Amino acid sequence: MSRVTPMDQPLPPGLYIVATPIGNLGDLSPRAADTLRRATLVLAEDKRVTAKLLAHAGASTPMRAYHDHSSEADRDAVLARLGSEAVALVSDAGTPLISDPGYKLVRAARAAGHAVHTVPGPCAAVAALTLAGLPTDRFLFLGFLPAKAKARSDAVVEVASVRASLVLYESGPRLGDTLAALRDGLGERDAAVAREISKLHEECVTGTLGALAERYASITPKGEIVIVVGPPAEREAASDDELDEALKAALSSMTPSRAAAHVAERLQLPRKRVYARALALGPDR
Ligand code: SAM
Repeated sequence: MSRVTPMDQPLPPGLYIVATPIGNLGDLSPRAADTLRRATLVLAEDKRVTAKLLAHAGASTPMRAYHDHSSEADRDAVLARLGSEAVALVSDAGTPLISDPGYKLVRAARAAGHAVHTVPGPCAAVAALTLAGLPTDRFLFLGFLPAKAKARSDAVVEVASVRASLVLYESGPRLGDTLAALRDGLGERDAAVAREISKLHEECVTGTLGALAERYASITPKGEIVIVVGPPAEREAASDDELDEALKAALSSMTPSRAAAHVAERLQLPRKRVYARALALGPDR
């Protein structure tokens, strides 16, 4: 059943998380525009950016700046209004809280017992997944990788064994270095660079990480970018002989349970199956 208030009634008090376009104003949903018009306050990352959006929505709602690094006192002032007013939170573009401010406010609003509503809409990460042509059944959103080379390559190594597509935000000047770090840490996976999504110069360039790293080593593209990297290739299932050999080696120094965990991880096999085989082989065989 819909919990949406009819447009001629005041919005019930609470916090409204409102997604906004990532480039094309036509993507502002009617419900998002209506919420911005009927809220009593709009919390904005950058009031100059949001002023244009409010004008487009025909809203004259007052604005107040809000960031996650806003002071406790600022947050308390917002919380004090949530019991009696409808307050909308927007970011400069896309869905608030996704590599953008908001989670501390949502947490505080919930803790104080206020209603929290979401008005879903554009998000660059999800839009890029729809363009890339890479598996979408499992994906891991990494936001922006660290800017420093060592921290960046450590962050890549940390996710190298994750069996999911990876989604990252990046800027033009850092794209080449980031793609090179991904190629070095993940190997030759399929990937896509989605740029200026929903804008005039939208493009999505696909290829292996190596080919993309080479392309963007010498080109610094303009605009906003999302990188999508496909999951690691499926390892060929280990044979029974391979499993027995690995287990015998592990059982010479480990308990069946530890040996099973170790071998299951290494051969990417279900732990139950490996443990059953480890028990059958027994220790020191
Ligand atoms: N909250 C936003 C969202 O829902 O997508 C993301 C905010 S984050 C601070 C900004 C980053 O999102 C950009 O640096 C870029 O990586 C990505 N981005 C935003 N708009 C984009 C667009 N139109 N095309 C490609 N990437 C975009």
